[in-house]
Amino acid sequence: MPQASAPPTSQIQVLVHTPAYSQMASALSYLSSEVPPPGTLVRVPLGQRELLGVVWDDSPAQAQQSTVEPAKLRPIAGVLTSLPPLSSHWRSLISFAASYYQRAKGEVALAALPPQLRDLSQVQLGRKLKKLAKIANQPTPATTGVAADTTAALQQAAVAAPHGVVLSAEQTVAIDQFRNHNGPFLLFGATGSGKTEVFMHCTAELLAASPQAQALVMVPEINLTPQLEERFKARFCSLYGMEAVVSMHSGMTPAQRLNSWLAAHSGAARIVLGTRMAVFASMPQLKLIIVDEEHDPSYKSGEGARYSARDLAIYRGHLEGAKVMLGSATPSLESWHHSRPAPEGGRYHRLEMPSRVGSGQLPLVRRVDMNHQPKACIISPPLLAAIAERIARGEQSMVFLNRRGYAPVLQCTDCDWKSECPHCSAYRVYHKIDRTLRCHHCGLSERVPRACPACGNPDIAPMGRGTERLEEHLAELLVQVHRPDGQPVRIVRIDADTTRLKGALESQLAQVHAGDVDVLVGTQMIAKGHDFRRITLVAAVNPDNALFSSDFRAPERLFSLLMQAAGRAGRDSAVAGSSEMWLQTFHPTHPLYESLKKHDYPTFAASQLKERQQAAMPPFSFQALVRSEARTQETAQGFLNAASQAAGEQNDTAALLAHLTRYPAVPMGIARIANIERAQMLIESPSRAALQKFLNAWQIVLHQTRALPECKGVLRWAIDVDPLNI
Ligand SMILES: [Zn+2]
Ligand SMILES: [Zn+2]
Repeated sequence: MPQASAPPTSQIQVLVHTPAYSQMASALSYLSSEVPPPGTLVRVPLGQRELLGVVWDDSPAQAQQSTVEPAKLRPIAGVLTSLPPLSSHWRSLISFAASYYQRAKGEVALAALPPQLRDLSQVQLGRKLKKLAKIANQPTPATTGVAADTTAALQQAAVAAPHGVVLSAEQTVAIDQFRNHNGPFLLFGATGSGKTEVFMHCTAELLAASPQAQALVMVPEINLTPQLEERFKARFCSLYGMEAVVSMHSGMTPAQRLNSWLAAHSGAARIVLGTRMAVFASMPQLKLIIVDEEHDPSYKSGEGARYSARDLAIYRGHLEGAKVMLGSATPSLESWHHSRPAPEGGRYHRLEMPSRVGSGQLPLVRRVDMNHQPKACIISPPLLAAIAERIARGEQSMVFLNRRGYAPVLQCTDCDWKSECPHCSAYRVYHKIDRTLRCHHCGLSERVPRACPACGNPDIAPMGRGTERLEEHLAELLVQVHRPDGQPVRIVRIDADTTRLKGALESQLAQVHAGDVDVLVGTQMIAKGHDFRRITLVAAVNPDNALFSSDFRAPERLFSLLMQAAGRAGRDSAVAGSSEMWLQTFHPTHPLYESLKKHDYPTFAASQLKERQQAAMPPFSFQALVRSEARTQETAQGFLNAASQAAGEQNDTAALLAHLTRYPAVPMGIARIANIERAQMLIESPSRAALQKFLNAWQIVLHQTRALPECKGVLRWAIDVDPLNI
């Protein structure tokens, strides 16, 4: 864009997307004839390229090029004048996230904007915005023909639950508390207790109270919860127009994402429904943030800035003065701990809804002691009989096993050969359906060899069991069983393999809902979110592994998964009385299963928190991981150990070492993926502030160490603050 009138003389600071940990970690200085307000989107030259940038309110001294002579600074290429600037709250959120998760501000800021914004011309953008403005100014069904003095009546109509939904006493109490306190809130509600209705009611109240207010509703995986989206659209589009509810998730096309973002940024969208990325949505009138299934690990990003959208939601609410409500039947132990009574130091307001709405009861939990079952049996005789009984009654069962494929490993019956992946420290999984050996880590896929590659023995056999084999096995076991109409049993498998094609999951789920399926087999994918009304039996075939895992979060995850799975059974009150959750276990008296039998999350959480406290684990301590990748373990670990040692030799890091524990570098759980060796180092501190201070100072040391000749072989490294997987 030519700036002919006045020579560009003022210095402005602009954030651009630069590679993480590059020397250009903060804003860059440019020249401009005018000084656009902070938050304005601009185009700037960088090297040979032209990039999208955000005007930032760093002082020139904070910017990287403060040492560059003003004469050498380049002018900006253009200003996106048609977009209102990003708010100061939004900029504070970005700055905080970048600093807390140890990434460059430019990376976090630009990743939070829709990718298509980079390529759009001023004219195209103007056209899109005009269209949005038109929609926003259109009278919505609710306001058409309503006089101003009936606003109160309109508000009443907006808040009232539609279609004669009667709130339960528990829901009413929760909503009252939400109305009268500032939060943050933790809505602890059993599966089927009607959390979604509470979310919608609270949203309706806030939107009705202020004509511009916006709400952000986050869900773990939007494709797995289409029902939630439908319910929000059905409820709010009739009040505020079709464009008032927009989605934001990675499954959308770039054009859809841009439209949603513009609708949120311009205020036309009153509700944004999205996955973790939506926590950064620009919403100038944000008044409420809801985080559904707040315990779900997918709120933590696994790449780039490894942020927790749940934790950022709490921060953002505080920043913007918006209410925040987290919801779960099995809250994360962190959130549970934060919602302990205020006199004990709790900061969240806990809202409890222990009962299922309607006459629905929680399913009976049955444990099958596998020590007393036939050796090596997969489906125990009592479980098989219970499934057969369901089929005869025309009811559905769901059987899950957390391993896809036919068998996790192929083995030679003669020598020691196993189907190892040549590129990873993992076995390749046998997929019988297309006779391949596939590595689930690097993707290597090969035909199953005719004979053992090591000794030539033609007898190579599958070891262990995945969902594919379980499906086959169940079909054999149920061959004599018939449906009430005399037809053979219909089994369907749902896992990452059967749902790879677009629309496959939806069509399989439709089959289940239509009653065309008697037994549903799958991975934990089927245990989450879906509202299966005719399922009266849920079975976990082999849940024991997590009981003795080295990952201290494994029991928490298992409990949550099993509770969620149990919640799939008996959603329909007509069949709730006969619904059961079956667990096949070699440890039937394990306390985790005892709590599960009583649907007693608080007891389980109390025992876990006690263990964590004794071991000084989160939430009683704070952790960060530094991961590094190289061609050899020696190089990957050497870098981490060298940087750790250097931390002890430099003043600003050494002073902080008394407040934290540095563990030696170790190989990661799966040490090698696609021929890259991976190592990690854990840093722990009882003080979040001390850990943050240390990481900020240590980052410089890590950069310096990486530049040493002996660390030349390090391919990448990254810091993960509050890691979920250790
Ligand atoms: Zn062999
Ligand atoms: Zn591999």
